[in-house]
Amino acid sequence: MTLSITEPIQTKLPPLTTECETPVTEEDMKQAVRTLLLGLGEDPDREGLKDTPKRVVKALKFLTAGYHQSLDELLNGAVFHENTNEMVLVRDIDLFSSCEHHILPILGRAHVAYIPNGKVIGLSKIARICEMYGRRLQVQERLTVQIADAIQGLLQPQGVAVVVEATHMCMVMRGVQKPGSWTSTSAVRGVFESDAKTRQEFMSLIRHNPTFH
Ligand SMILES: [Zn+2]
Repeated sequence: MTLSITEPIQTKLPPLTTECETPVTEEDMKQAVRTLLLGLGEDPDREGLKDTPKRVVKALKFLTAGYHQSLDELLNGAVFHENTNEMVLVRDIDLFSSCEHHILPILGRAHVAYIPNGKVIGLSKIARICEMYGRRLQVQERLTVQIADAIQGLLQPQGVAVVVEATHMCMVMRGVQKPGSWTSTSAVRGVFESDAKTRQEFMSLIRHNPTFH
């Protein structure tokens, strides 16, 4: 994905590009997909598959575009001073990621809450943060922790709580083949960790029966 960035405040990590970071060219990647197709017993030259290596490489680059983003770029200064002690909760953020073990989709939702300590962030940026970490090869546990730590680091709030509920295609379509199974992971920091009542309030606000289609 492309973000329109006018003035990045501070870019800790320079944007990576496949070209400068790795000697692997796009052509190499396409060849690798072609080899996979051959290994599957397919004819990569038949009409329907002719452009598949190109499409697969493009799709994979899109799904892992989060490697080339940094929090600074993504925020673009959208941190504001605000004196509030009330919980900010963004729930049901659609999350698309790819499992690092099988490169198959992880589909789910994130619920992110924090209690400010003088600083707040644009609400849409919370979804952007989830998206940035989602667009990498992931395990759900790490994805959850990365979102929590990002908010913690950016705002130093009184507390952060993140719950991710997701279904893993590597479980649904292969292996144990359990459609409808979903995994819930959480990461809590600050008052959400130390105060059971605050944590409880968050948990009751996000309680529902998730359905994934
Ligand atoms: Zn997997």
